[in-house]
Amino acid sequence: MEQSYKSKRREEHRAKGLCKECNESSAPNSAFCEKHKEARRLYNKKRREDHRAAGLCILCNEPLVTAHYCERHRQESMAKGKKWTAALKAKVLEHYGNKCACCGETEPVFLTIDHINSDGYKHRAKTGYRITGNALWKEIVNKGYPNTYQILCWNCNSGRAINNGVCPHYSSNRAQNGPSLVYTEFKKVS
Ligand SMILES: [Zn+2]
Ligand SMILES: [Zn+2]
Ligand SMILES: [Zn+2]
Ligand SMILES: [Zn+2]
Repeated sequence: MEQSYKSKRREEHRAKGLCKECNESSAPNSAFCEKHKEARRLYNKKRREDHRAAGLCILCNEPLVTAHYCERHRQESMAKGKKWTAALKAKVLEHYGNKCACCGETEPVFLTIDHINSDGYKHRAKTGYRITGNALWKEIVNKGYPNTYQILCWNCNSGRAINNGVCPHYSSNRAQNGPSLVYTEFKKVS
């Protein structure tokens, strides 16, 4: 009874943009006012620290197997991470047409993203490494899907890398046009 009254009040507050704990208005992107938001942040932080100091998972009372999690929460967080990456990749692939820009391969497992002007290599020169995987999918979404990227399958991607910037699927006279040509331009020629 008490519980349902409380949760009803919380819902009403939420709908009105008020803090779940008091009658102040909520902070931006939060269900709490500034004061309660900060209190909650500190409470959670302290709880995580206490748990870690005691060798316990930050989410439950099981012993730690990593720096933060017990075995069950380690697996859950890994599964979440994998799902999240897969969803991100699917979103990016869809934006760029879901197929290899060179050979037309559509199996998502074979598909990867390619910097059209090979500026991945420039980036590597600057930072000492080339962004790949998760970080790359994230960067593409954050930059609003720049048109300097395209989808290639692993074959065409490594074929291009080995063959002076042009996939061997293209004839050698086209390859003479150099490494910075965009595949869609090749397609117009053919
Ligand atoms: Zn409050
Ligand atoms: Zn746990
Ligand atoms: Zn391909
Ligand atoms: Zn190719």
